[in-house]
Amino acid sequence: MFCRVLCADICGIEAKTVFVEADVSGGLPGFYMVGLPSSEVKEAKERVLRAIYNSGIDLPPRKITINLSPANMRKSGSGFDLPIAMAILGAYGYVEGKDLDQVMIAGELSLDGKINPIHGVLPIALTAAREGMKKLLIPEGNLAEGAVVGTLGVFGAPDLRTLLTMLQSGEISYEKEIDLEPLLERSLQDLAVDFSEVKGQEVAKRATLVAVAGFHHLLYVGPPGSGKSMMARRIPTILNKLTSEECMELSRIYSVAGLLGTQPLLTRRPFRAPHHTITVPALVGGYQIPRPGEISLAHKGVLFLDEAAEFKKETIETLRIPLETKQIVLNRLSMQAVFPADFMLVMAMNPCRCGYYPDRHFCHCSEADVQRYFGKIKGPILDRIDVCVGTKKLNVKELRPDIRTESSAEMREKIIRAQKRQEERFRDEPILFNSQMGQKEIEQYCKLDPDSEQILDLAYEKYNMSARGYMKVLKVARTIADLSDEEQITKDHVMEALSYRNAFVEGEL
Ligand SMILES: [Zn+2]
Repeated sequence: MFCRVLCADICGIEAKTVFVEADVSGGLPGFYMVGLPSSEVKEAKERVLRAIYNSGIDLPPRKITINLSPANMRKSGSGFDLPIAMAILGAYGYVEGKDLDQVMIAGELSLDGKINPIHGVLPIALTAAREGMKKLLIPEGNLAEGAVVGTLGVFGAPDLRTLLTMLQSGEISYEKEIDLEPLLERSLQDLAVDFSEVKGQEVAKRATLVAVAGFHHLLYVGPPGSGKSMMARRIPTILNKLTSEECMELSRIYSVAGLLGTQPLLTRRPFRAPHHTITVPALVGGYQIPRPGEISLAHKGVLFLDEAAEFKKETIETLRIPLETKQIVLNRLSMQAVFPADFMLVMAMNPCRCGYYPDRHFCHCSEADVQRYFGKIKGPILDRIDVCVGTKKLNVKELRPDIRTESSAEMREKIIRAQKRQEERFRDEPILFNSQMGQKEIEQYCKLDPDSEQILDLAYEKYNMSARGYMKVLKVARTIADLSDEEQITKDHVMEALSYRNAFVEGEL
């Protein structure tokens, strides 16, 4: 007897269709698996047979051969347990072939026959829909995630025995489809923090607004306790809501990482703040079976590196390529996994080792010490920071509770307006934000009037700016002009952009 079912293998955030074929024949009883299974998939043999046996299903001893095809693709993950079990049950005649037709199957089995949730159900569901499948059979714990894809009949069962009864009786209850829009709307409401709680850091707050509006990478430099990370942690409250495409892409990343939990989707822009002891694979992704790292988990959101100078130099340097290409490519054995990584980098650091430079009452670091301190993130990474701003120690007056400051909602409104202008501007370009402009776009969209040109030329000479630094000022000035709803960049915009220039990169410090 022979039975074939469909399942999928995850590679990056994509799922590829795999056929599981089971053949049961006479001859010496045994279990053989072919078709390039990884060690995890090979272990399915033990789990599947025990799970079937412990579900009270009797399998007479026969020669069971399992083939996973296409054979040239390496299969990994534990999601193959359930499809293998169903193929065997089909081959033994416990399940009718027609019940498994047009059904994509994924799930892990316990020895007692329970069907356990797996990672990556969302990409599997999307592949099933794309390939024209009618149904998706997945673990009960993953039902919400699968039900996001509307065109499929999504069903599951807590264990193998219940599943078999369900299929034999034909009484299958399908999960209700999930409506995305209300989830995305609601995602902006229930945030616990607000920018109105940040007092007295008006310059840094304004710089944050500018950076977010143009998706510019941002660096805060200031003494300990001056509110750097307080501000960074409030950035999610001023980010605009995800589009449905972005939501699906992000949710696929979180699905593969197994981080969706009971949520069907990730509905808010992510904010990831890895500790400075993080390892390279945890940051950029990796391990034997490629998993997304923090940079991919921060996709379409914020990657915040607090105490940036404390990170190991080689860890920070691995960010260089993804910052350029907005994705990370991981090569493992015969597979190549690509994870998106288009994030806004926000870093915070002290101005020197003791944290109080240039306040000479407290700081006794030498100029060379300060240079060395910055040396760690100097170069390619600091070079990508468009907006750099100092935070200061507050005086008591600025902390008074009756001082009203701009709220997150007010800031977000301005940002959305500025981003609309960018959307309009780059309608026919492959970019979304001012920060992503190349030479060609800068020439086209950052034209200066004579006054602003003169100021920028003076600054270029005076500060001995690099060409890259010059371009950065233009891009930031473009965003500032967008924030004030003006098409023409004026001298005020250029002067503000110059104030966010990175003095540490330009060698001014
Ligand atoms: Zn110092």
